[in-house]
Amino acid sequence: MTFFVPSHDRTGAAVTSNVMGMTTSASVPAGSDDAMDRDGTVTDRLVDANAQYAAEFSDPGMDARPVLHVAVVACMDARLDLHAALGLELGDCHTIRNAGGVVTDDVIRSLTISQRALGTRSIVLIHHTNCGLESLTEEFRHELEMEVGQRPAWAVESFRDVDQDVRQSMRRVRTSPFLLHNDDVRGFVFDVKTGLLREVEAA
Ligand code: ZN
Repeated sequence: MTFFVPSHDRTGAAVTSNVMGMTTSASVPAGSDDAMDRDGTVTDRLVDANAQYAAEFSDPGMDARPVLHVAVVACMDARLDLHAALGLELGDCHTIRNAGGVVTDDVIRSLTISQRALGTRSIVLIHHTNCGLESLTEEFRHELEMEVGQRPAWAVESFRDVDQDVRQSMRRVRTSPFLLHNDDVRGFVFDVKTGLLREVEAA
């Protein structure tokens, strides 16, 4: 994932700067600005695509409980297509995603609802190579506070060692008092260049 930090100049116009200096497949290719001007915003494009999707969609008749009784927690990275990478079909799983695939309190909230209200039992945690969080530090919060005059309540949850961060995530899940099932919790690193998952053993 790439971090874009929105800031404001004195006229109040939004300015976007790429503090990471890294690009992903989600970056807008050069020249596409013109296409956007012709065809509307990116959201317009998504809404148009949805109209086509809905035209061919038929009600699968599912309820909200995932067929495979599994919840996948993963980074929001644009290069990680969870359904394709894991052979998942519509209705198979819950997907819970954030920057880094970090097990935050809010992820525990989703997992708790997933297990207690919607019947999932297994948890799969997926981090990946070349994650944007590896090149951030908690200094990011400090810089943010200096810029906007308010310290965010959340931690950046940056990390240096992706395996260690997967183990930390597994530990947070396994020690949560709210979850019903913590006997099938496995953690992986997805390689964005090969598409392969590598399992990380729990500490
Ligand atoms: Zn990431």
